[in-house]
Amino acid sequence: MTGSVTVIGLGPGDPRLLTPAAQDALAQAQDLIGYIPYVARVPERPDLVRHASDNRVEVDRARQALELAASGRRVAVVSGGDPGVFAMAAAVFEAVEAGDPAWRRLDIRVEPGITAMLAAAASLGAPLGGDFCALSLSDNLKPWPVITARLEAVLRADFVVALYNPISSARPWQLGAALGLAAEIRAPGTPVMLARAVSRPDEAIRVLTLAEAREASADMATLVIIGASATRLIPRGDGERPFVYTPRSVPA
Ligand code: SAH
Repeated sequence: MTGSVTVIGLGPGDPRLLTPAAQDALAQAQDLIGYIPYVARVPERPDLVRHASDNRVEVDRARQALELAASGRRVAVVSGGDPGVFAMAAAVFEAVEAGDPAWRRLDIRVEPGITAMLAAAASLGAPLGGDFCALSLSDNLKPWPVITARLEAVLRADFVVALYNPISSARPWQLGAALGLAAEIRAPGTPVMLARAVSRPDEAIRVLTLAEAREASADMATLVIIGASATRLIPRGDGERPFVYTPRSVPA
């Protein structure tokens, strides 16, 4: 089979945060598949067929990519951030595992991207300096009790926690519930960072306490980072946002 599927991470938004390898893979693609806002981030080209879809089931999108590749096309599947983080790469492999055995002989690759958590952390300072974990709060693909059980476990283990998909119009209450759970386990003064649209023109990053964050609003373009007990702020004055960091060392 001559066709290929490359699952490409577009990074958090700023085109300068797209890797050169991802750029090369996009330049070689004949078909472009992805959620509308991500496809829109790839410049148009007369020889590139665009298949933008709204938030349809990811595995269907993956199957479409594999069918096109099986017919000989070079297909790029795009995700924001990194495609392996709550995004299309796993959907492609799920489709391969369940689909036509011939798909396993296709040239399938993943091009990494800078995930929202790392872009947000870099803007804030070094909040992920110690041990951390990432959770998606979306209960589209997993039951809510699983999410709360995992969240409770990592909060008790004192990880810094990055929350993807904190809220959406269809899921308005999950972030409040997650921060409520955090408030049962962590001190009210724990730093909580709401990083919205990191590296895009409408970027807005807030450093709050856990108590303040429970009153704050967030949207689906926001990545939430809940500090651990060691996470600290360095105030800077003049209305500037403090630096946020978590020391690497943990006292014995
Ligand atoms: N694959 C993506 C994540 C997809 S899940 C990645 O690696 O970044 C979608 C969630 O990612 C959003 O709800 C939000 O929580 C987060 N996100 C994506 N891009 C972001 C950005 N530029 N700034 C802040 N959060 C972002």
